[in-house]
Amino acid sequence: MGNLSENALRILQERYLLKDKNGGLKESPKEMFHRVARSVAKAESKWAGIESQTKWEKKFFDLMSNLIFLPNSPTLMNAGTPYSQLSACFVLPVKDSLSGIFETLKTAALVHQKGGGTGFNFSHLRPAGDRLSHHGGSASGPVSFIKLFDFATEQVKQGGKRRGANMGILNVNHPDILEFVRLRVNGKPLQNFNLSVGITHAFMEAVEKDADWELIHPNSGSAIRKLKARLIWDAIVQGAWESGNPGIVFLDTINESNPMISMGAIEATNPCGEVPLLDFEACNLGSINLSKFVKGTSLDWDFLRETVHTAVRFLDNVIEVNKYPDIKIKKATIANRKIGLGVMGWAEMLIQLSIPYDSEEAVELAKKVMGFVQEESSLASSRLGEERGNFENWESSIYSPNQVMRNATRISIAPTGTISILADTSSSIEPLFALAYQRRKVLDGQNLTSINELFIKKLKEEGLFSQEILDQTMTNGSCSKVENLPEKFRSIFKTALEIDPIWHLKHQIAFQQFTDNAVSKTVNLPNSARPEDIAEIYQLAWKWKAKGITVFRNDTRREQVLYKGIKA
Ligand code: ADP
Repeated sequence: MGNLSENALRILQERYLLKDKNGGLKESPKEMFHRVARSVAKAESKWAGIESQTKWEKKFFDLMSNLIFLPNSPTLMNAGTPYSQLSACFVLPVKDSLSGIFETLKTAALVHQKGGGTGFNFSHLRPAGDRLSHHGGSASGPVSFIKLFDFATEQVKQGGKRRGANMGILNVNHPDILEFVRLRVNGKPLQNFNLSVGITHAFMEAVEKDADWELIHPNSGSAIRKLKARLIWDAIVQGAWESGNPGIVFLDTINESNPMISMGAIEATNPCGEVPLLDFEACNLGSINLSKFVKGTSLDWDFLRETVHTAVRFLDNVIEVNKYPDIKIKKATIANRKIGLGVMGWAEMLIQLSIPYDSEEAVELAKKVMGFVQEESSLASSRLGEERGNFENWESSIYSPNQVMRNATRISIAPTGTISILADTSSSIEPLFALAYQRRKVLDGQNLTSINELFIKKLKEEGLFSQEILDQTMTNGSCSKVENLPEKFRSIFKTALEIDPIWHLKHQIAFQQFTDNAVSKTVNLPNSARPEDIAEIYQLAWKWKAKGITVFRNDTRREQVLYKGIKA
């Protein structure tokens, strides 16, 4: 069992470890990892004997307890409990009827209650002001229902652990698109929603050509308004500049690699965008901690291969022991068996190898590492397919007739907002956000400054360690202005805002090329960035085949929807 950081212990105690009725802890972190390993290994009994179950239980425990691989939070929290709802990601349909809308809202509440996040595309709803057929009166429209969903989410507290999270998408040809793009409540973005505009290639081309764009009634299919595509584009960019919302999902790009396209187009993603899903599908995630694979000046590829294979098996087992809040979700999820294996600790891996994040060398390594993870995860899923059978809908998938496959998708790069803190590493594929943080001490409420351990280790290795360097780094949260440090050293420790946005995007694209689902990434921009800079990033993201894009301009004071209170 690896050592847990103070922060990891605190989060585990507050949110993950099982408690009795009086709030007393019923398990230790070690016991939690045993609970999860045992429960997930139980799936083995369907195909093999107890020996296999025991063997895999041990392997799962070793990976998790040594912080080499961690599943998404709901798996850690719920496995082996009466509510083993283990997936983090869901997409639910929103139909154009009052009962349809409220049915979905109810299902979403049940998903949130057990720690999952939900994504919706609201484009099937008739626009605000539209006549209602039977009763006279007029429709509220997507924007007003999104507010309702936001309010409802606020009320479901996920057993006191965290608030629910949602993705709300509206397609760029919906008549209410401008209202959606400008959606604020009392001047602020919604509390529990990330918003994204569903964009097509046709729209991006219309923006490029400064052409007209038609807004289409979702029921009749007829155009009800024509305006310049750039008018909508500018409003999107302005919104993102002000608050980081809306982001974009590139629906055509998503569907070009949709393995189940014969079942219909994908219209939505989970809250952070890394998993495009069909209606009622759920996906369970897990992430490999790349910082654990550096051996000297190179990578331990054999260990990485073995880890990917064990992780894929783990995630496929999760589908087996998962409990779903709704029969339709169960059916859709089991039929395609999507899993999302991703990575965290990428920035720390680069630092250990002394490669600056903003370098072609880093981008090339990203492709090599993720190419390897992708290939091995497909191989692992094919082998499981031979052992356990293809997923139910396999015949209608792009893998039929030649490629045996257990899971319709294998890879997603999630933000790892909490599990990277548990693993004490950098989140997902993001650069370090700061080298020093202020943290509130739990017991007496005092502030405590902690400094990145890897930074201290590297300083010592290079014989550069001094109190003066530490003090200067603590003051700025960065070492970029510490003159006593060599330029090369400083370049390895550049933080998110010191890295030019283009490198953020290049990393996203490099990882996306080897990710069959999508990559959740924030492109950080300095406060001085202009709307034109955001427009350029969004346009490049489309050209380079990102599946979605989110930017965040520093100091716009938008509170992060998802991690409030966790980062501490
Ligand atoms: P974690 O580190 O807790 O496992 P991530 O930050 O990697 O989670 O997020 C993965 C996915 O989990 C998100 O895209 C979303 O679907 C879901 N999720 C994250 N935070 C929440 C939340 N507060 N409520 C509901 N779902 C969440």
